[in-house]
Amino acid sequence: MHRSVKTLFEAEAMAEGRGVTVYRSIGRKGMMNLDPFLLLDEMELPRDASGAGFPEHPHRGFETVTYMLSGRMKHGDRAGNAGEIGPGDAQWMTAGRGIVHSEMPVASGEDVRGFQLWVNLPAELKMIPPRYQDVAAESMPDVTGQGYRARLIAGTLGGKAGPVTDIAVKPLYADITMTASEAVIDIPSGHTAFIYGISGGLNIQDQPVPARTLAVLGDGDQVTVAARPGARFLLVAAAPIQEPVARYGPFVMNTRKEIMATLDDWDQGRFLSV
Ligand code: FE
Repeated sequence: MHRSVKTLFEAEAMAEGRGVTVYRSIGRKGMMNLDPFLLLDEMELPRDASGAGFPEHPHRGFETVTYMLSGRMKHGDRAGNAGEIGPGDAQWMTAGRGIVHSEMPVASGEDVRGFQLWVNLPAELKMIPPRYQDVAAESMPDVTGQGYRARLIAGTLGGKAGPVTDIAVKPLYADITMTASEAVIDIPSGHTAFIYGISGGLNIQDQPVPARTLAVLGDGDQVTVAARPGARFLLVAAAPIQEPVARYGPFVMNTRKEIMATLDDWDQGRFLSV
């Protein structure tokens, strides 16, 4: 069965971090959660924005996948880990019980453009130890399918598997470029799924999907996308967790009580020792 567009949601420009504009779709009023996804930001930093970025900040209770389209970013945390990612690279992070880190652009002569997706953790995993890893573009398989080619960041598509394998809900995360005027892509039935336009307008079951717009898909086992060859979009899908979500800024737990305890841990400086 072909999936149609259930909801269209335009990303909205908002101020984030220090001097950064992000285009947020999931994670703002109107679509706070799209179980199991908590936030999707498209970030765009001009190359001359010296000092702009995401200085030290905490997270607890979920996982993030950062995927770079252009430019370079470096990251570091209070535990002494550090790394740098460039065009086509990804980084996944499990905040678990708590991480305090920074994510800042590196001058490379290129504007920084990329995505950050927040993926929820089920209750039983929210307080696991933090961990993360950089994933090089070269490790992401190219998948050729009906009317498209995809760079596979996570999950399986066309018999291949993406290198980001440690996100608890095992999402499908693909960067897809049209190679014909119509693409047909398999998505597991019952999974929450969305398409986010990067460049070129798309059409899904006669519903136009402009760039910088998120299309939540109805259920089905495949999606048919019509567009000009070269049009590009993200396809992300995963099984929902179906648990209560309590969130406050960079903390996402199941109950308000857990959020209060998290704020107390942060205020009391217990974040790295809990
Ligand atoms: Fe962060």
